[in-house]
Amino acid sequence: MNKRELNIFNLLRENIKTIKAYSSARDEYKDASADMVFIDANESPFQTNVNRYPDPQQSSVKQQLSELKNIPPSQILLGNGSDEVLDLIFRAFCEPNVDNIVTLPPTYGMYKVLADLNAINIISVELDSDFEPKVSEILTTQNDNSKLLFLCSPNNPTANSFNSDKIEDLISGFEGIVVIDEAYIDFSNQESWVSRLNKFPNLIVTQTLSKAYGLAGIRLGICYASEFIISVLNKIKPPYNVNQLTQQKALERLLKIDEVNAEVSNILEQRKWLQQALETVPFIKTIYPSDANFILVKVDAANKRYSELIEKGIVVRNRTTQPLCENCLRFTVGTEKENKTLIEALNQLS
Ligand SMILES: *Cc1c(COP(=O)(O)O)cnc(C)c1O
Repeated sequence: MNKRELNIFNLLRENIKTIKAYSSARDEYKDASADMVFIDANESPFQTNVNRYPDPQQSSVKQQLSELKNIPPSQILLGNGSDEVLDLIFRAFCEPNVDNIVTLPPTYGMYKVLADLNAINIISVELDSDFEPKVSEILTTQNDNSKLLFLCSPNNPTANSFNSDKIEDLISGFEGIVVIDEAYIDFSNQESWVSRLNKFPNLIVTQTLSKAYGLAGIRLGICYASEFIISVLNKIKPPYNVNQLTQQKALERLLKIDEVNAEVSNILEQRKWLQQALETVPFIKTIYPSDANFILVKVDAANKRYSELIEKGIVVRNRTTQPLCENCLRFTVGTEKENKTLIEALNQLS
């Protein structure tokens, strides 16, 4: 173990430092050539297309991601949605009832849910009024038990990407692991931090096929990190955590990346149209800039407008109870038709 690896090793939970991975039947013998007899895993021998356990290492999907993202498969871990990936990161680094994480509200709700589930304390440092991280406050507030700092960029629900110098200062100054959640990176004009992983051994980047790739239903979350961190997460993940159907569907989609890119371009055009159209709605006070596939707006009375839209058959996200988001609604960018329906409905309200 080199010095960098040792530093990360020391951040691990005590029981994880020595844990042995479960060795599945498919881990022991991987080369599934057609004419071999597989009687090692107590599967059914009858064909259903999914009678065999899936590839525990999801090699085909990782290979494709590796080419698209220009990073070796050994630096990729896949999970049952980002939810599972984030949970694995908690379990690897955070000692229940002892350690804490740092989050920057208003942000994605799952960090708190997972912290509560794993009995991990939360240190919250609100974003500033430009929805940017307060770097020096975060760095002075961390303590010896601060294991994870979650940076959601572009951030949900505020839709902005964080300033990259601030992100870099946080990665350099935080004494635990920095997790950058890039669920919306495909809609952003910022470069992904995946390309800078090798510079920062304490950096983890997560992405998902749920947004730009249009596959929320299959649950596929992605984690990029150093080979060392990925090897630890691999040891503690459930052996068959990404099912066969998900792997097939993900691979199909990754092989048609042109389609994904065309859909993203369409969303970006629609986002621009929607931003302009929203300016004509009298009770919308602020339209925040967006680097994602949704737009946050401040209205006169969020609860009232939310209910009125429901009555018109339109479900939006009411974020009014979140810090810095009083009277804010979040609109996902839909199809051209859906966006027109939204604008018409908004203009009918008085
Ligand atoms: C939607 C979203 C995700 C995606 O989660 P999955 O479990 O992969 O569907 C992750 N992070 C943020 C901030 C999100 O908004």
